[in-house]
Amino acid sequence: MSESQRSQLVAHDRDAAATAADAATADGTADVVILGAGPAGLVLGNLLQAGGIDCVVLERADRAHVQSRARAGYLAANTVRILEENGLAAGLRRNGQPHAVCEFRTEDGRFRLDYGSLGPCGPHTVYPQQELVTDLLTHYLDAGGRLSFETEALAVLDADGARPSVAVRTADGRQGHWQGRYVAGCDGRHGAARRSLPAGVVRHRRDHGVSWLGLLAEAPPSLDAVGYAVHRRGFAGHMARTPEVTRYYVQVERGEPAGAWSEQRIWDELALRMHAADYGPLRGGRIVQQSVVDLESDVLEPLRHGSLFLVGDAASLISPSAAKGANLAVLEAEILARALVDDLAHGDPAGLDRYSARCLDHIWRAQEFSHWMIQLLHSPPGPVGGETLFHDALRRSRLELLRTSRTHQQWFAEGYVGV
Ligand SMILES: Cc1cc2nc3c(=O)[nH]c(=O)nc-3n(C[C@H](O)[C@H](O)[C@H](O)COP(=O)(O)OP(=O)(O)OC[C@H]3O[C@@H](n4cnc5c(N)ncnc54)[C@H](O)[C@@H]3O)c2cc1C
Repeated sequence: MSESQRSQLVAHDRDAAATAADAATADGTADVVILGAGPAGLVLGNLLQAGGIDCVVLERADRAHVQSRARAGYLAANTVRILEENGLAAGLRRNGQPHAVCEFRTEDGRFRLDYGSLGPCGPHTVYPQQELVTDLLTHYLDAGGRLSFETEALAVLDADGARPSVAVRTADGRQGHWQGRYVAGCDGRHGAARRSLPAGVVRHRRDHGVSWLGLLAEAPPSLDAVGYAVHRRGFAGHMARTPEVTRYYVQVERGEPAGAWSEQRIWDELALRMHAADYGPLRGGRIVQQSVVDLESDVLEPLRHGSLFLVGDAASLISPSAAKGANLAVLEAEILARALVDDLAHGDPAGLDRYSARCLDHIWRAQEFSHWMIQLLHSPPGPVGGETLFHDALRRSRLELLRTSRTHQQWFAEGYVGV
């Protein structure tokens, strides 16, 4: 038996599966080689596994790291539908919280928007991304899924040929190749899939010139809504994660390093921008994570290159202002899984041919809404003057429309939750 065969993960017992999966594998074959064990890669892996398709997930990090990466939290109804239809929603059903209200705060006052009851998409479900990833991973391994941790994809080779492969390096320094019929690049914006694209790929990129300090606080939520505060000192945001943990955002100067602000300064600034003196104090706690997010859009086109498909953040990056990234990743994974099952199990390649166009439709709708949100919540960068004053006046008018016009509120509700 070869080394790759020996280390292929077929155990059905969960503990045995976890142990076997922890052994990195440098060589092997699978019909579909999936790069990355984030929401995109793990939804794809689970759906292919359920469809009887031979696949493997290669993940650069170790299991503990993958299961502890706190990022998204707001899952759209369509994401919940995909997870439920595929038996992946048990944890989310147990511990997810429905969430339906936004509160906007400005110098002119505040208003609440019950978006969950306005649009066709209903409310969000709040469920931390690391919990979702843990559920997906456990389900995949329990069902005998093959996964190699600490296995970094270096490059996708021969994507134009019939037998593409992925050059990998394991954490202990071994190098090898995984060969497949298809490769799914679910390895994020800085992964190997993007680096392996041929010249001539169109890249639509926009730097919105705005940076957020993203914070995770061991503090109960301070309001029963997503809080968006527009302030002359910059944006501040509040998003519940669990009854004990809240995500906050504070807009910072571009280039400001994470960790530059003391906890005291963070809480003072959040209280000021969220108008706590008028609307009630924030519930404080230890800040356990700080990272800077530069608000950018970055969409590749097309999303298929021969046998290589881009999924999730590898396909498009979207600012977190509208909570779309993880939702797009799950949707694209579902579309690709169906197309791969049709092709590999039934000999019908039509879905694969349509994959890029279908996903780009969804991606651009999400980008459009996210772009609108960025303009609603921030002044343009640069010195205060004619241009910024004009933008701020428009922004106030947009917020007023959102406060008063039912039509605008319904449009917002559909764009906010829909993907
Ligand atoms: C602060 C923050 C808040 C957010 N909030 C929300 C929200 O509320 N709602 C929402 O929908 N989205 C949100 N997002 C976006 C969301 O987290 C991402 O869009 C989502 O994680 C994308 O999933 P993915 O599987 O495509 O990529 P990832 O989650 O990035 O997973 C990629 C995986 O690939 C692995 N990898 C990378 N390179 C390699 C390699 N060379 N070889 C092998 N493996 C590799 C990585 O280790 C990782 O495990 C937020 C993002 C941030 C940063």
